[in-house]
Amino acid sequence: MLISICRAVVTCLPLLWLASVTDGVPDPAKRELLMREETFRQTGGGVALTAAEQKLDAHLRGLKEKEMAAAQFPPAMHFFKAKPLIQKSPIFKLLQQMPKGGALHVHSSSLVSVEWLVKNVTYRPHCYICFTWDNSVRFLFSDRQPFPRWDCFYWQLLETLRAKIGDAAGFDNSLIQHLTLVTVDPDGEYPSQDVVWEKFEKVFIATAGLITHAPVLREYLYKGLAELHLDNVMYLELRSGLSRTYELDGTVHDKAWILKTFQEVTKKFKAGHPDFLGARIIISVHRALEVPAVKAAVKEAIQLQKEFPDVVAGFDLVGREDSGRNLWYFREALSLPADLGVTLPYFFHAGETDSEGTDVDQNILDALLFNTTRIGHGYALAHHPLAKEMSRKRNVAVELCPISNQVLKLVSDLRNHPAAVLMSEGHPMVISSDDPSLFGTTGLSYDFYEAFVGIGGLKANLGTLKELSVNSIRYSSLPAHLKEAGYAMWKRKWDAFISAHS
Ligand SMILES: [Zn+2]
Repeated sequence: MLISICRAVVTCLPLLWLASVTDGVPDPAKRELLMREETFRQTGGGVALTAAEQKLDAHLRGLKEKEMAAAQFPPAMHFFKAKPLIQKSPIFKLLQQMPKGGALHVHSSSLVSVEWLVKNVTYRPHCYICFTWDNSVRFLFSDRQPFPRWDCFYWQLLETLRAKIGDAAGFDNSLIQHLTLVTVDPDGEYPSQDVVWEKFEKVFIATAGLITHAPVLREYLYKGLAELHLDNVMYLELRSGLSRTYELDGTVHDKAWILKTFQEVTKKFKAGHPDFLGARIIISVHRALEVPAVKAAVKEAIQLQKEFPDVVAGFDLVGREDSGRNLWYFREALSLPADLGVTLPYFFHAGETDSEGTDVDQNILDALLFNTTRIGHGYALAHHPLAKEMSRKRNVAVELCPISNQVLKLVSDLRNHPAAVLMSEGHPMVISSDDPSLFGTTGLSYDFYEAFVGIGGLKANLGTLKELSVNSIRYSSLPAHLKEAGYAMWKRKWDAFISAHS
């Protein structure tokens, strides 16, 4: 196939005889051959680089050596503290310009930078705010004073409140704090996974009132595609619950309306940006639901995929795995498509945990048993040799989201991320951002930086970057002809990038 990056036909086993122990100084030639063989196995290890690519690769290696020798090494630090350093990194600047293919693991509630939500959306007329008892906020656009709700007794018109407070900048900053996890003291503020997840879930609820307002949603989706495009990302697969979307007078739209809107927005964006490939949706529901509710959601997803085959890629369960229900619990619901004799591709979050041996830890195996197309995170995969083998044989890619894993406290120093094992073995993998607005990132460059400089270390080279970018098209949900068109589009951009930087 067109987009398979050719690997020379080398089998690994015959070389193992070279590793046999000898007395005295081992043969340097054998040693060299073994090292080359190991390099060949890593992500991008089999990519043959052109002369121009080799030149850029050597430059990148020099830059990386410098960053690794510096007093502060960004991947070893919490991202919130590392971000200003990363922004100054020449490697990061190159990654921003590099065509990165598609973002395959992003959630709709955290697609667009929070600054835009606060500085633009909350300044619109008819925007009401309410402060909740648990130190969170709710927003609502309404043409009349909203009724009190169980979580919100007193709604205030933002325009009036801002005028009363006076300090607009300070107030806006406090709103930003409600809509993101970003803080100057991440370790102090989030001492445990429980605490950071609590805030994480709160942010989603707080954002909902803004982005589920129909006119905002349209612009929000467009802005989301624009932010990706600006970072040289040309395709998106967005996890979305297709939450109820409302108009100013309280009219509520159904899920089909949201999919239609998404389709229209994508079409409009593509018309203005012919080098953008497109966007699709993975319908997601929360894993806190009961089996009948998930069953209904699966049924609905089957129907919506039939109605919008170009838009709906498949189905997933979202929410914290450690405290949510595991995939096996939902087996009756998840087997529904097979029972009905239809296909609904799954894109399960699985293995976003460090609780080894628990029921949740089996999610990866169950995801594979339910024939998942990709594995969201797969942080625990390296500890499951059988599941790892299955995922590799079936070409089920792991969606690696390094910054998410660090901020949500699975790993602190990214050099210790288990994906280093997967990368060293060339396991099918793509890089994504999960919840960019919550982590203070946009696009994919920050996550590519952490994977390339931190997780991959000096072993990761330009071939690694090339394979990871191509993987995002190869492992996307797109039909074969669009993958080919996408690859051709990406290749043109890649060649231009190489000739501009070599
Ligand atoms: Zn996710």
